[in-house]
Amino acid sequence: MAPDHRTKGADAPLGLPRPQRSERPGGCDPAFPRTATPSDLVGRVLGLNPGMMTGPGTNTYLVGRRDPILIDTGAGVPDYLPLLERYLAERGWTRPSRVLLTHRHVDHLGGVRHLRERWPDLRVSKMRYRDTGLPEPIEDLRDGDVVEGDGVTLVAVHTPGHASDHLCYYLREARALFTGDVVLGGSTTVIPSGDGDLADYMASLRRLLELPLERIYPAHGPVIEDGPGLVHEYIEHRLMRERQILEALADGLVTIPAMVKRIYADVPEKLHAMAAQSVESHLRKLERDRRVREHRERHAPSRWELLAG
Ligand SMILES: [Zn+2]
Repeated sequence: MAPDHRTKGADAPLGLPRPQRSERPGGCDPAFPRTATPSDLVGRVLGLNPGMMTGPGTNTYLVGRRDPILIDTGAGVPDYLPLLERYLAERGWTRPSRVLLTHRHVDHLGGVRHLRERWPDLRVSKMRYRDTGLPEPIEDLRDGDVVEGDGVTLVAVHTPGHASDHLCYYLREARALFTGDVVLGGSTTVIPSGDGDLADYMASLRRLLELPLERIYPAHGPVIEDGPGLVHEYIEHRLMRERQILEALADGLVTIPAMVKRIYADVPEKLHAMAAQSVESHLRKLERDRRVREHRERHAPSRWELLAG
């Protein structure tokens, strides 16, 4: 199927609210600061695109000591560039040295055009994969590529699942990870149908646990101090959902709406469409594992069959 990054999931990283262990929710919090300096190597400027699907908006990060690398660019909100320039000036900086993008969704690369109008020679890089309509020129980055900045080293880590072209960036000097939409502050991640893939996503999460990791800087929501703790939580959460889906099937709830009704009984109904997408991503994974089979119906939701063994 031809993926279309402008439709489903295009600016929809946030899934369902996650039970909170951290101090501050990553939801649509008006008190979320527009700029912040979470460490001497990392500054943060908000993309100013708040919403149900983006929480307080997309975080963009400036990484370095004197000549900072910008990770992600927000959605292209006009007020973002002045805010970025104000923050650069506060830090005694004039411009980003270059831009790294985590993935192709519009709330991450939508700001490239404005940035290029301001700095026409700005280098922009991402993993080029199944892309159409990128704001060219864009340089290709691959898994393991190392980007040297001013006092910082960023390593690209291919982490498909939320998007097939997704890169996280590992900051060696701080044992910190910029996770884009793979791990978020305050909610789970959407696995969009089409370009998303839950099996890939689980493999990506497990891969992150192999890194010597402390902090996570997510693309939405606050800094996560215990990075590995949250990645473990994400894995546990998905495994729990998978168990619930298998149990529902065993109990004769064989359509997605029926499963959602039981499994998400405590979630407001307006979020059930999103929940259905999540259940479907699980069923597609189980289908690939040959544990379920889909029976398509003409005028009704598919019926899912639990396979023996
Ligand atoms: Zn995304």
